[in-house]
Amino acid sequence: MAGKVVPVSNPFVSESDIHSVAKALRDGWISGEGPIVEAFENAFADYCSRDFAVSVTNGTAALELAIHCLDLAEGDEVIVPSFAIISCVSQVLRCGATPIFVDSDPSTWNLDVDLVAQHVTSRTRAIIAVHTYGLPVNMDPLLALCKDCGIALIEDAAEAHGLTYQGRKCGSFGDVSTFSFYANKNISSGEGGMVVTDDADLYKKLKYFRNLTFRAEERFVHEDLGWNLRMSSLQCALAHSQLNRIEETLHRRREIGDFYHERLGGIEDITLPATHSLGVRNDYWVFGLVLTGDREGTRALVQKALQELGVGTRPFFYPLHRQPVLKIFKLADQPTLPVAEHLGTNGFYIPNGLGMTNSDMEYVADMCLQVLQ
Ligand SMILES: *Cc1c(COP(=O)(O)O)cnc(C)c1O
Repeated sequence: MAGKVVPVSNPFVSESDIHSVAKALRDGWISGEGPIVEAFENAFADYCSRDFAVSVTNGTAALELAIHCLDLAEGDEVIVPSFAIISCVSQVLRCGATPIFVDSDPSTWNLDVDLVAQHVTSRTRAIIAVHTYGLPVNMDPLLALCKDCGIALIEDAAEAHGLTYQGRKCGSFGDVSTFSFYANKNISSGEGGMVVTDDADLYKKLKYFRNLTFRAEERFVHEDLGWNLRMSSLQCALAHSQLNRIEETLHRRREIGDFYHERLGGIEDITLPATHSLGVRNDYWVFGLVLTGDREGTRALVQKALQELGVGTRPFFYPLHRQPVLKIFKLADQPTLPVAEHLGTNGFYIPNGLGMTNSDMEYVADMCLQVLQ
């Protein structure tokens, strides 16, 4: 096995993916406009049972565009899970609003929805729900709270293509919901993203700001400043092909997750991902390990030992409420959020890319046992 290397996320590209992109090229559709983009947007909206979908360059752009369209102002507050990616707060901070960070549930690693209500004030404008690492957020209490208090619900489903909650697809719950098609996501075009909604006015606004605020009349005369966030036809062709086999993708992720649970379940002072939550099976978008007890604080050593054996790993999200960048916004003084801090310090994930083979899985499990047992 000497010299074997298993990257943390090896992508899988099928023959039909290649065919789909080649067809776009042959047909001469390469830009971010035209029938291939529209077909993918329509198929994606249908898949999540939404009325409208707007493709964008990546999942961060999807969140930033969605948040831009909320017209937040200084003094407005947005409730965000601390255990999430920077993309969830970048636009909140840029527009002068204040993120209010909430801790995670220690067993699911998702936003602890029981803690949210106590953070709602008269200034709360939005809540961002992030389905994390393969399990859904408990949406019902958030939906009820948002409805009662007139708060917008932004649903970040970047890690949750095809995942369900109470029989409905993740991405179908938010006033606006967002996806990423980055290389390690369940549907991937390398880079890409999507915003979905049922609100026709919001849909128009999203499209307007995505596309440089061009208008049908007087195309090059602008009344607002927008961005070029268009996803190309080639990316849409690739992601569309992957949408068509999302069930196989989820099946494979679960196969890998089940295998790791079986092989790594007995190690002391390691927490593995919850297998279920809220009646839903984890789809193991990533397969995380969290060091506990005597192993706490040893993550760097463990990752290095695995790296030397050719096993790629990645640390968990660093808690947002501890991000150094908050200093720039005079928001560095934050209360302790113990779960997010524990996960952010002691969690990492091991290879589960769709391109890995069964023998790669065996190798990763063997090496984890060698390092951790
Ligand atoms: C990946 C991810 C994003 C960002 O997507 P990019 O396409 O990489 O910009 C946003 N939110 C979550 C929860 C993600 O996992």
